[in-house]
Amino acid sequence: MPSNTYAPLKDKLLEERQRVEGLVRAETERRSVLNDTTDHERYGNHPADEAGETFEKEKSLAIQGNLEVILEEVAHALHKFDAGTYGRCDECGNDIPYERLEVRPQATLCVACKSKVEHTQFVSHMESVRSPA
Ligand SMILES: [Zn+2]
Repeated sequence: MPSNTYAPLKDKLLEERQRVEGLVRAETERRSVLNDTTDHERYGNHPADEAGETFEKEKSLAIQGNLEVILEEVAHALHKFDAGTYGRCDECGNDIPYERLEVRPQATLCVACKSKVEHTQFVSHMESVRSPA
C-alpha cells in the first residue's frame, strides 16, 4: 500500500493532537480558576467548599492524565509516519486494517496483537495474584 494512502489519517492525528492539547489547556485553566477561588475564600473559610474543590482538582488531574496518554499515542503514531512504518503493527509488522486506523488513527497494534497484549497482561496479573513473588 503506498504511504500517501495514509495522508488523511495523518491530518486526523494532527487534528486530534490539537484538540487534545486544547483540552489539556482547558483543564490547566480550570485548575488555576479553582486555585484563585480558594484564595478568595480564605476570608470566609468554608471547609465543605474546599473539599469539593480538592475533588474537582483531583478529577481534573485524572482527566489530564488520560489526555496525556492519548497525546503520547498520537505522538508515537506520528513518529511512525516519519519512520515510514505507519499502518504496520508494532508487534508483528503486519498491516493494520485501514478501517481500524480510520476509527483510531493512533492505533499501533493490529487487533490480534492488541488482544494478545491484553491477554498477556491479564495472565501475568492473574499469576501475580496467585503466587505473589
Ligand atoms: Zn500485530
